[in-house]
Amino acid sequence: MNLRNCLLALVLALILPTLTACTEAPITGRSQFIMVSDASMLSASQESYAEFLETNELSDNTEQTAVVKRIGKDIQNAVETWAQDTGQTDLLENYEWEFNLVQSDQVNAWCMPGGKIVVYTGMFPVAETEAGLATIMGHEVAHAIARHGAEQVTSNMVVGAGGALLAAAFNDDEPGDPNSTDGGYSDEQIAMISYGILTQVGLLLPHSRTQEREADHLGLIYMAMAGYNPEKAPELWQRMADRGKSSSGLLKSFETILSTHPTNEERIINLRDLAPDAMRYYRNAPTRHEDKKLPLTPEQTAETEPADAQTPEPQT
Ligand SMILES: [Zn+2]
Repeated sequence: MNLRNCLLALVLALILPTLTACTEAPITGRSQFIMVSDASMLSASQESYAEFLETNELSDNTEQTAVVKRIGKDIQNAVETWAQDTGQTDLLENYEWEFNLVQSDQVNAWCMPGGKIVVYTGMFPVAETEAGLATIMGHEVAHAIARHGAEQVTSNMVVGAGGALLAAAFNDDEPGDPNSTDGGYSDEQIAMISYGILTQVGLLLPHSRTQEREADHLGLIYMAMAGYNPEKAPELWQRMADRGKSSSGLLKSFETILSTHPTNEERIINLRDLAPDAMRYYRNAPTRHEDKKLPLTPEQTAETEPADAQTPEPQT
């Protein structure tokens, strides 16, 4: 085996993005390394979005669907105006915005490159109010505008290239001894497993954590520009945190280390720090919306009630 080559591949894969950053994320100005063209990201996302909508059920709740589309449109208009005012219309070139509500109990929402957004009905009881939903949708729009998808594809390409180099370096390796204490893995297999763990913890995870924080930051500004009160955003993440409290301490700390998302507590602190700046955009918004409660189904309303009200403690 050639240890030097394998270390070189690892080091290259880990430091390349910081050395060759060539674009900047909007507003935050963070350096980004992107090797994938917008055109290829947009056409791939259009296809996947259409396929997703074909194979998943749209919500038949017209009232909730209308709220998702209205808040989405408000955020779209706000970012388009901002792009125009700041001479950055190229950022949104070829975007074809779409906002859909999909029937699913998952507490989830996402945005594909090019402005293709999905909110799951399971998000409604947690979002609770229009500002709550705008927090989530602003965050998703921010992922798309800051090109986080293309950045992730680039990271995967770099990691993939590092892995290929590593495999080539071990090409002439002898197969492992099945009776040995390492369980019969060859040196190559062990090196690839270590490489996988190292790149996951060292490159991909911090990257997506940075992206999450950036999406929180930009999302807060986008919701504010669209006239939704950014001071309400920490309350949304507090409700998310309350939901997650059921997992055990050990599981939680492990999730915090390996999770691609910052903890809800971290998010709440960051958002509180950023709220005063976002309020400037809110005060300048053409319309400031009253924070109305979202329309909920009876099942969703039951979900918002405290857990002990739903399942009374057994009397002993
Ligand atoms: Zn996110």
